[in-house]
Amino acid sequence: MDLKKRNNLILITAAVAIFLLTMIDSISIKKFTRSEMMMDTLVEISVFGMGKDKKKLENAIDSAFTEIDRIEKLMSRFIVTSEIAEINASDSDEIYISSETAYILQNSQVISDLTGGAFDVTLAELMELWGFTGDSPSVPDKSAIERLMKHTGNEKYSVSGIDTIYRVKLEDPEVKIDLGGIAKGYAIKRAAEVLKESGVKSAMVDAGGDIVVIGNKKGKPFNVGIKSPDGEGIIGVIGAEDIAIVTSGDYERFFIEGGVKYHHIIDPATGYPARKCKSVTIIADDALVADALSTAVFVMGAEAGIQLVDGLDEVEAMIIDSDDEAHFSQNAHKYIKLKEKE
Ligand code: AMP
Ligand code: MG
Repeated sequence: MDLKKRNNLILITAAVAIFLLTMIDSISIKKFTRSEMMMDTLVEISVFGMGKDKKKLENAIDSAFTEIDRIEKLMSRFIVTSEIAEINASDSDEIYISSETAYILQNSQVISDLTGGAFDVTLAELMELWGFTGDSPSVPDKSAIERLMKHTGNEKYSVSGIDTIYRVKLEDPEVKIDLGGIAKGYAIKRAAEVLKESGVKSAMVDAGGDIVVIGNKKGKPFNVGIKSPDGEGIIGVIGAEDIAIVTSGDYERFFIEGGVKYHHIIDPATGYPARKCKSVTIIADDALVADALSTAVFVMGAEAGIQLVDGLDEVEAMIIDSDDEAHFSQNAHKYIKLKEKE
């Protein structure tokens, strides 16, 4: 073979190789991921798809973050322009709200009724008194707690809607709303819906351990770790496919005073942190339901909590009680693999 022919052959071989590699790259499954601080936590969205769909998948991630941001601006009591801040600041006892806020408040009442009042979105003033969201939380005076407890309870507000006009009526002008136990679940649920509407078939939305997964990961369930309530590490893994997993824990926001741990999940019956559990993980189709139930079951404790969850379709729970004992709902073992103790 003369030199020219040989060079041509090398060039053609190289071009074919580059073409094949580009082809393989464009149809191989890749992970696209981004994290942002939102809702007071690190939110990570990971999407799996073909390399050739990079632009489309990255745009989908953008849209999902925009949706979470929108919901936070609508529902955070800390953002003065939010509907919740508006309700809390209003002098009027009847306030117009969006259909979305009405939907969350109505769901809050359903979960409250289901859990004997353990879920209660009227604890904003108590959260302020305990100072969990401030720099210097401390144990308040019993009398101050008792005073505020007069203005809490799910019967203190009602939601009504005719056509597309929704209103919240405050039965007690002092009542203040805090959606901290449910809004994050709604936000990740909506983020997942936005991803699906953008054509995403495989993804994980993780807001500080509150998780929704879409589809599976390369044909196998996503592995989601359950954090140990005491310190670092995980106590088990959940095989997750098209499902939401939400955990409430006493380690998320707390302070220690006089050797006692005080955390941010309040028992609406006492005004003090709920004492029966260290962590509650709920597995459910709907992230909003999983979020509200994780907070409520944490308050209810293992016995009543498991009884409740066993009576619900498509909801499973794992509860670590205050003695470090693990409790499972009937079918939780289908999802959860516990780690061997070292
Ligand atoms: P989570 O991490 O989902 O359990 O939510 C905890 C947050 O929900 C707290 O930081 C409060 O904002 C709010 N919260 C605390 N206690 C309750 C309760 N009993 N019912 C509903 N929301 C609560
Ligand atoms: Mg919750």
